[in-house]
Amino acid sequence: MEYDTIAAISTPMGEGAIAIVRLSGEQAVTIADSIYKGKQSLCDVTTHTIHYGKLMDPATDEAVEEVMMSVMRAPRTFTREDVVEINCHGGLVSVNRVLQLVLREGARLAEPGEFTKRAFLNGRIDLSQAEAVMDLIRAKTDRAMNVALNQMEGRLSKLVSSLRQTLLETIAHVEVNIDYPEYDAEEMTHQLLQEKLHEVKNEVATLLTTAQQGKILREGLSTAIIGRPNVGKSSLMNALVQENKAIVTDVAGTTRDVIEEYVNVRGVPLRLVDTAGIRETEDIVERIGVEKSRKVLKEADLILLVLNNNERLTQEDENLLAAVKGLNAIIIINKTDLESHIDRDRLQQLSDNHPIITVSLLQEEGVDRLEEGIAKLFFAGGMEAQDMTYVSNSRHIALLQQASGSIEEALHGIEASLPIDMIQIDITRAWEILGEIVGDTVSESLIDQLFSQFCLGK
Ligand code: GDP
Ligand code: ZN
Repeated sequence: MEYDTIAAISTPMGEGAIAIVRLSGEQAVTIADSIYKGKQSLCDVTTHTIHYGKLMDPATDEAVEEVMMSVMRAPRTFTREDVVEINCHGGLVSVNRVLQLVLREGARLAEPGEFTKRAFLNGRIDLSQAEAVMDLIRAKTDRAMNVALNQMEGRLSKLVSSLRQTLLETIAHVEVNIDYPEYDAEEMTHQLLQEKLHEVKNEVATLLTTAQQGKILREGLSTAIIGRPNVGKSSLMNALVQENKAIVTDVAGTTRDVIEEYVNVRGVPLRLVDTAGIRETEDIVERIGVEKSRKVLKEADLILLVLNNNERLTQEDENLLAAVKGLNAIIIINKTDLESHIDRDRLQQLSDNHPIITVSLLQEEGVDRLEEGIAKLFFAGGMEAQDMTYVSNSRHIALLQQASGSIEEALHGIEASLPIDMIQIDITRAWEILGEIVGDTVSESLIDQLFSQFCLGK
């Protein structure tokens, strides 16, 4: 398949020492050569080599820029097409001038994600790998980046493909039985089907158990800081943000009306959110009742409940402790620099075995212990294994759940001794759904929609 030649600035916008304008397509080398003057024509150079020269404006025949041209011939390129990368000076003006030149010579401005889309369309990568490229660009922590890298290497694709293969074998087996009923060994078929389907269903379930963590690594652990007025909630927020370089986010579609700060605590991305306004609101329990506030609090992945060491537990403190029972919470006793009046025994009783950590935010004491506590909570159960295949993408999670549902249907069908061709429908459906993860069975509009979420130049 041949596509037109596209071009874009593929380094981040703004000042930098160098910038790269990337061309991809059949005309990439010809277009680059038409504005290049160097020792030899780019059409004659060996593939995967880099060449110094001047960039000429064909309209005026003037040299406009010094450049290094990387020439990479298909198919050993990211897009599997001819690719030229023009390395030029990093200023916004000069890099734009280079882009304008290649556009004038016949290239088309690439749409966001179009380079990656071509890699997908030309069969270089599958859809889950393309999505990993997008995750990689947005990764907020090293761990999130590892998840994306693993996926880009095709781990998820391989797993999903082998599951599909198993399903395909069962379908083939069923078909033999339909086509040659004289062979009929119905009992045998059912048993074999059940085994295979259980196998696939279990593997899908295992993948789904990684989903929550994968999603958190990708999107951040939504964290609510709660406590009554003046206990030190804002101080805690500031301490976490100051110690852990806040991460700038540009995730498309996140609502901007919630106050959010991203921090990276020992590899755990925290999204400090003002969950339904509870962070700075006083006594939610009083206001909306224990049950309702539990519901609100449940929306957070992690709750940091702050208490004041200098005062006795109040009714409001006790309400909050009751509200976080059974939820993922850490209790923080702040102001340890002041005299202790808090009832530790009573607190122990009410704490529901949540970790209790003492700090003095004023003296910047104990914040490291808190961070350790957060990391420990998150990585409990040895989930931090680096080589794990995480499912982190909501689209993939939804598809895995659907596939599991179809397999479940098939299993019910077998139990109810439904005709074998009815069962086959469900198995085929599961096979198709799994195919959507790797992009085998997706519609064109979905592909367009997915790739449009990319940044320009990728
Ligand atoms: P918030 O209302 O819960 O957000 O509490 P703030 O973070 O605004 O803090 C309330 C007051 O307590 C401020 O005057 C802080 O300076 C003070 N404060 C915070 N942490 C400590 C601490 O560890 N020790 C002492 N002595 N004062 C603190
Ligand atoms: Zn505050």
